[in-house]
Amino acid sequence: MKFIETRGNDSQPHHPLKVEFSGAILGPIASYGGIYVPEHLPDLGLEFLNKHRDSPYKQLAKAVLGAFEIDLDESVIDEALSLYDEFDDANNPVPLAKISDDLFVSELYRGPTRAFKDMALQPFGVLLSALARQRDEDYLILAATSGDTGPAALETFKNKERVRVACMFPEGGTSDVQRLQMITEDADNLKVIGIKGVFDDAQIALKQLLGSQQFKETLKAKKIHLSAANSVNFGRIIFQIIYHIHAYLEMVRQAEITMGTRIYLAVPSGNFGNALGGYYALKMGLPVEKILISTNKNNVLAQLINHGRYDFRDTEVVATLSPAMDILKASNVERVLFDLYGAKRTREMMQQLDEERFYELTESEHQQLREFFAADECDDEETTRYVRNCFEQGYLMDPHTATCIKVYDSCRSKPLKTVITSTAEWTKFSMTTAEAIGADGGDGDLQALKNISAKAEIDIPEQIEALFKKPIIHKTLINKEDIEKTIISFL
Ligand SMILES: *Cc1c(COP(=O)(O)O)cnc(C)c1O
Repeated sequence: MKFIETRGNDSQPHHPLKVEFSGAILGPIASYGGIYVPEHLPDLGLEFLNKHRDSPYKQLAKAVLGAFEIDLDESVIDEALSLYDEFDDANNPVPLAKISDDLFVSELYRGPTRAFKDMALQPFGVLLSALARQRDEDYLILAATSGDTGPAALETFKNKERVRVACMFPEGGTSDVQRLQMITEDADNLKVIGIKGVFDDAQIALKQLLGSQQFKETLKAKKIHLSAANSVNFGRIIFQIIYHIHAYLEMVRQAEITMGTRIYLAVPSGNFGNALGGYYALKMGLPVEKILISTNKNNVLAQLINHGRYDFRDTEVVATLSPAMDILKASNVERVLFDLYGAKRTREMMQQLDEERFYELTESEHQQLREFFAADECDDEETTRYVRNCFEQGYLMDPHTATCIKVYDSCRSKPLKTVITSTAEWTKFSMTTAEAIGADGGDGDLQALKNISAKAEIDIPEQIEALFKKPIIHKTLINKEDIEKTIISFL
């Protein structure tokens, strides 16, 4: 299958009309600053679902990748998918937990870094490194992270041939666990850089670097290609379609629904990659009534879905208890716009967004969007309450996951069963979780983890406990002005 551009093609020679999957992964920016999307979506409706009713995760994954006809050797795909064997349970890397009669949690966090970023980044690392070797090219991955992408990217790329990673994070802007996951990661091809400031400072530093002529020339002289492991890369999105289908089949296998019954999917959303995966699954034939989008107080997505306007003209990001969702510009929405309204209209809207931080759907466009999505926002006080309520019913969830209970409560118009996608383990946000369940937070993650563990009678996973004993490898802490110098000397 070929991939095309969300904002149409500008006929420039370096912008081919169509690219293969590998081209979309490595691909430079598409025409007019767009991103790549599949030319059409394969049909994975009831026939496919029945065929894979009992398929284990990897087999299902292979069939979904197969339906997209991706241009990668089978051995590479097998190697990529074999990383799911390292999750808690190799036979079922994504368990489905039951919370109540009609509420279920798809636990996407059972990989090495305990956040759902592993679901896509683990296999993606294998694909990218294989492509780099095949093409005999070197790649630099730049990441600015608020906490979950960084650890997952470092973990997947460590010691991979032909790939180097420079990862910037705001010192003091992550949880202890997230910071330790990055600065204890020991491999020669990784550079982790603490930035004095907040996440936005790290992001601004990254943007400046990407615009710097000196930096471009250095890369060119060293024959290093730049790649982004960010969440608009279709090489990540494709792995985010699979787990929604898997969760549905788990519901069938557990006899909670019969094949064909519709369910709701509830997704805690930031950059909209997870939600987009659900949307694609729905469009490909998964019986999903609607995708329920939860946001925190940074509610641009909820506003778009409820009022048809993407608007952050007078809006600043506010810090919340679900920091991975503290985002104003959700990059993957563009793919939904393309799918619903076509390239010309997408280009128009995205250009307006870039220039004015605003665009508005027509009434009929808005109606179309609402056929697939419903949304609500969940403030910190509600988030804490949902974590506590669920804990009292016997289930411990992280604050991001908890925001989904809000949309489950407020957005369902039919009494259908709902699957919440859980994006992080409680261990990654232990201070908030501890406070919510009335275990003492203490003065840092380690104390909070222990207090939760004692109160909830639940073990701290090995990967997390070990972090506090590992030697610290990366001690670089700099001002954002010094980023370029630091990365060039790493190269
Ligand atoms: C990345 C992340 C999200 C947001 O996911 P998107 O796909 O960007 O919408 C939500 N929760 C956690 C814990 C995350 O790490």
